[in-house]
Amino acid sequence: MNPSYIPNGLSAWGDPPLITGPQVLTNPLLNKGTAFSEHERDVLGLRGLLPPRVFTIEEQLQRTLNSVRRKQDNIEKYIYLTNLQNRNEVLFYRLVIDHIEEMVPLIYTPTVGQACLEYGSIYRRPRGMFISLRERGRIAEILRHWPQPGVRLIVVTDGERILGLGDLGALGMGIPVGKLSLYTACAGVHPGYCLPITLDVGTDNATLQDGEAYIGLKEKRARGAVYDEFVDEFVRAVKEVFPKALLQWEDFGNSNAFRLLGKYRKSLPSFNDDIQGTASVALAGVLAALRLTQSTLAQQKILFLGAGEAGTGIADLYCAAAMAGGMSEADARSHCWFVDSKGLLVKGRGDKLPSHKEPYAHDHPFVATLTEAVHALKPTALIGVSGQAQTFTQEIVTAMAKYNARPIIFALSNPTSKAECTAEQVYGWSEGRAIYASGSPFPAVTLNGQVHVPGQGNNIYIFPGVGLGALASEATEVTDAMFLSAAQTLASLVEPSDLAVGRVYPPLTKIRDVSLQIATAVADSAHRLGLARAARPADIEADIRGRMFEPTYHDYL
Ligand code: NAD
Repeated sequence: MNPSYIPNGLSAWGDPPLITGPQVLTNPLLNKGTAFSEHERDVLGLRGLLPPRVFTIEEQLQRTLNSVRRKQDNIEKYIYLTNLQNRNEVLFYRLVIDHIEEMVPLIYTPTVGQACLEYGSIYRRPRGMFISLRERGRIAEILRHWPQPGVRLIVVTDGERILGLGDLGALGMGIPVGKLSLYTACAGVHPGYCLPITLDVGTDNATLQDGEAYIGLKEKRARGAVYDEFVDEFVRAVKEVFPKALLQWEDFGNSNAFRLLGKYRKSLPSFNDDIQGTASVALAGVLAALRLTQSTLAQQKILFLGAGEAGTGIADLYCAAAMAGGMSEADARSHCWFVDSKGLLVKGRGDKLPSHKEPYAHDHPFVATLTEAVHALKPTALIGVSGQAQTFTQEIVTAMAKYNARPIIFALSNPTSKAECTAEQVYGWSEGRAIYASGSPFPAVTLNGQVHVPGQGNNIYIFPGVGLGALASEATEVTDAMFLSAAQTLASLVEPSDLAVGRVYPPLTKIRDVSLQIATAVADSAHRLGLARAARPADIEADIRGRMFEPTYHDYL
């Protein structure tokens, strides 16, 4: 009989699957491809199933890196990397981790946006689960079809608001798949515990409904009671089938995102990265910037352009931080101001405000434009989360630089083409005094001999670490306090050498250590708040480090 194997690292969390003999070649968690040794080929019965030459993992890595670089465009690189991931996960993750700055933009933003648009035509092999309205009443049964037992981490989307691309329906699957790859690469969550899910409730995208290659339900998006009952059944099924799972809500439309988070965050360990992860990474950037401005959170007046999931999420977390520092809620809210598509958010503006905007409608005369709002309020920080390109004009940046010695200006809208202003513009218009971060990466700018390195306020700095910490402690809830401690931890990891060039985030090459530190802070928070189901280990950091997936080949001897 062939011996059985537990995929490398899975035993750290329990429920390991057993695989035998030549099955290792088709299981991406076990496959080593041409790196199976002579002895392993005999023991596992692989002779003749592989070309004869045995390669080292370093040789395989060089070959795959060359192959990626030879591809002409990013979508071809994405397809190549996806196929590698489906074939050999250790090699895939070694490649991503060793070349993180080159690979992240290929496996996630910005390439993943194009990949979603083309998901129907580049779809080769199932990854993740599609659960459609047709499966109503059977969702628990469907979840049991997932071949890996003991799922711990689910990223789910309903495809309504994919990045800045709008309603992509079932094509949104690229997002949960990509986010979970980042969990493994950046925080070492074992890929065997990750489950990407797309809830297909239809789409209001007429082009997709008419398209031949569309892979989802060709019907209008469900809303109201049908939608709510479907999501409710899904949540109940997750709790029943994967009771230890943490769930991340991803790229839901505005009207559902806040509602679902509020409804389920206490009954199922879950969070929304677009709201809470964004808030945490942006607040971390502000906290790091305060080390440059030598001022405090309480001294800030923040003006946001855009009052959606990102903007109000950041403001809410700013308020949580200010209140933790002793400020009253009303006072904290009064430090955050918004301009949305209708102008400055003030009391009595005349339109009906959704609940997430209401706390920020202050007593103030209405002004219609961002320029007027900057002159009227003289904010210390300007944060762009509107999805509107080039809205931080020269006049606005110059005004910010007039009112502040070091204005904080974050243009967080993605992709690059949607940024409110570029790094070159902001440094040029502010005589190099602005502290700038962006959502998409911008190259460094040299101005009068001084190098300015823009920070990238990428959620990748936050959600993998928060998720890992919540998993390790088996937290029953992911609280705002955890996102606050994640932001404080991230800000504390910005080195003086980063600040010296104006960078308010650590380099991406440090991401695994960043995630470990954040996970440690989050797990500690869960234990202190009495929200941990796991026993508190003597050394939380060592415990988590020991569970992190390292992409090395299993020794089958
Ligand atoms: P959203 O749709 O929830 O909110 C967008 C907001 O912008 C809405 O309040 C809308 O009224 C406002 N808006 C639209 N047009 C406007 C205009 N002309 N002037 C002023 N306001 C306008 O979207 P979201 O999730 O909040 O994301 C917004 C942007 O932030 C996106 O571009 C997204 O890519 C970016 N984002 C960046 C990060 C990051 O950098 N880490 C994270 C999340 C989101």
